[in-house]
Amino acid sequence: MHAARLWNYLYLELADSFDAMPELPPRVRALLAAEAGLGVLPTALETDSSDGFTCKYLLALADDARIETVLMRFTGRVTACISSQVGCAMGCVFCATGQMGYTRHLTPGEIVAQAVHVARALRETPRGNCKLLVYKQSMASPPARLRNVVLMGMGEPLHNYDAVMHAIDILRDEAGLALAGDRITLSTVGVVPGILRLAREKRSLHLAVSLHAATQEERAALVPVAKKWPLDELMAACRTYSGATGRRIFYEWTLIEGKNDSPAHARAVGRLLRGLPAQVNLIPLNPTSGYAGMPTHTEAAKKFQRILAGEFALPSTVRQRRGIDIAAGCGQLATAS
Ligand code: SAH
Ligand code: SF4
Repeated sequence: MHAARLWNYLYLELADSFDAMPELPPRVRALLAAEAGLGVLPTALETDSSDGFTCKYLLALADDARIETVLMRFTGRVTACISSQVGCAMGCVFCATGQMGYTRHLTPGEIVAQAVHVARALRETPRGNCKLLVYKQSMASPPARLRNVVLMGMGEPLHNYDAVMHAIDILRDEAGLALAGDRITLSTVGVVPGILRLAREKRSLHLAVSLHAATQEERAALVPVAKKWPLDELMAACRTYSGATGRRIFYEWTLIEGKNDSPAHARAVGRLLRGLPAQVNLIPLNPTSGYAGMPTHTEAAKKFQRILAGEFALPSTVRQRRGIDIAAGCGQLATAS
């Protein structure tokens, strides 16, 4: 009887305590307070990037583990980048989360709570905290609510498949946050059984696959789990996924100077993805303490793109670098001291 109202308080009013639900009878509120928790994640630290477009939250979980969640403001849109695990077991050499190792999976509630946290922050400071005029102008009409979520924070979402899908179902619930399936992007390192399961279940989301290299040997040097799920098996799974869902996959390619950014590398990825519905997302390497590589220069990244477009008709984007000064960029999230 009270569920619809409770849901409304949770996901539309973004209430942060049962006391803030006056339309529920006091005995129901008391029962909820005794038997349940709202799962609000306290902010241990909040850091704004100097340009004001990005805000990183260090959130405390009930067992005192910590995760990071990022709010990214673009003109007319806000994206929440959320975590699926405390740490990560996949060990990619250039990733700060991989460098800290794996602690545990997040629960569906802990995953959803991050999106709610960002939605609340957006409501409280629609234009963020930045005083820069150029920024304030570009944020003249900030979005009224959160519409975009990327599962690209800490952890490997397909290693925590059930909890992540449960969380996505809650995020999509039309009586709640009501995120559209095509506004949710899940990025995987290439967990083959998870990709095949997504294909079978025909889940409504965008899939991004972290490729980084177009040969098994080069990939395994950057992404150790490529030894478990080799490149040919990964590409077969991607083919199955696109065949079953009719969806294009985003292939992510972290550009590392002198490692995977030459014209020959661009041609290799072009050949690998030939005939597949694909878009390449190039991500210039962000610095992390455990990896000495350097990001590719802008000119080389543009040349990489020109080769993909000109010789293979393969669309690509270079991901906007966001929050690098506060270590909130791709692969920079970590909570180990
Ligand atoms: N575990 C998932 C999602 C989180 S990482 C995955 O690996 O896909 C999101 C993206 O950031 C991935 O493509 C990842 O390879 C990339 N990334 C990791 N470390 C990076 C770094 N230091 N610089 C740039 N991109 C990085
Ligand atoms: Fe884990 Fe993704 Fe980082 Fe690899 S890049 S260690 S899979 S979070």
